[in-house]
Amino acid sequence: MAVVYTVTYIGGSCGKLLKSENEVQLHATRSGHTNFSESTEEVKPLTEEEKKAQLDKYCRSVAKIIINISMRTQYMWYIIKMEYRRKRRKKRFKLI
Ligand SMILES: [Zn+2]
Repeated sequence: MAVVYTVTYIGGSCGKLLKSENEVQLHATRSGHTNFSESTEEVKPLTEEEKKAQLDKYCRSVAKIIINISMRTQYMWYIIKMEYRRKRRKKRFKLI
């Protein structure tokens, strides 16, 4: 199994942990701190159970989004249908 490392940057002036070069840049421009040091951390590979748990969490969030979209679509269809019926009714009254 491949060993994964993440590089974190530590602000020398404030000791703040920054996860990416982008964060370093952002922090540098915001705070004016210029002194940063790198630290390399080994990331432990996930166990099978952890992987399953992550996948499960991911699947659930995707399912939630899909349900949300389909509910919205159904609602939109309902609104369109009602609007259409309302217009048709108006036309009928005009004819009379
Ligand atoms: Zn800083």
